[in-house]
Amino acid sequence: MDLDGFTDICRVHGWPCGDDRDALSGSGMGNALEFFSRERIPATLFAIAQDVHDAAKRRRLHEAVTQGHEIASHSVTHRTLTRLSAEEKRREIVDSRATLQDALSVPVRGFRAPGFAVDAESLHFVEEAGYDYDSSLFPGRSGAKRVGLATIPVAPHHPLRGTGRLRELPMPPRASLPFPFHPSYSLVMGNWYFELGLRRVRPNAAPLVLLFHLTDFADPLPAYQLHGWKARLYTLSSISAADKLDRCRRMLEAVRKRYRIVSTAELLRDWTTSASSQGT
Ligand SMILES: [Zn+2]
Repeated sequence: MDLDGFTDICRVHGWPCGDDRDALSGSGMGNALEFFSRERIPATLFAIAQDVHDAAKRRRLHEAVTQGHEIASHSVTHRTLTRLSAEEKRREIVDSRATLQDALSVPVRGFRAPGFAVDAESLHFVEEAGYDYDSSLFPGRSGAKRVGLATIPVAPHHPLRGTGRLRELPMPPRASLPFPFHPSYSLVMGNWYFELGLRRVRPNAAPLVLLFHLTDFADPLPAYQLHGWKARLYTLSSISAADKLDRCRRMLEAVRKRYRIVSTAELLRDWTTSASSQGT
């Protein structure tokens, strides 16, 4: 789950969001942790490192750690990496790992780029920072050139030529759909969209990275905080939390019919074993 809060969503879209406490983040984390506990999901939470300076967000991150969830990095400030200078990009990747590890006293093994915007330079910084894995790429040719590949494989792989350490856990393929089919989009489009995407993915070809966002679980934001229909849409504020939770539960049910749910750590361990046993 990516932990983009209301302030991050506002920043990405250039909307004013005032000085209010991040209600989306508060209810989103509370409802998500309850959901993961009820559904017995060992989640990986991609946290924005500057959030550790916000007492309420830091407390909820600690709570997630106590409940056994993995913490990964979603950069320091959630800026688009491909628009930054090499030095700023490096800081977003390297410093976020150090900050999260220091604040939460847990190892941080994974990285996901804000907006999935990565290039070859970013991936080199991800490896240099000591992460074990990145999870920012979509399979296929689109976006492959930016990271120096001809195509991005569907299965977990080593994304950097000539080095064998960093692993990539790619998103599920879009399977000819106009948008990715992860729950945030499917909550807008309808559960049929998620089920269509899921049906188009070959279950035996690769593990499925199931990506949630805080918006998928959060209570709707009050109208006074939302500037126009886009803000309501991108915060999923037109759907009640109860409806979202029920629909996420049904998406999860559809996933469970085809996949065994494992933590990222377990996936990496199993994948390393099978990859090395096949000599790849
Ligand atoms: Zn994000």
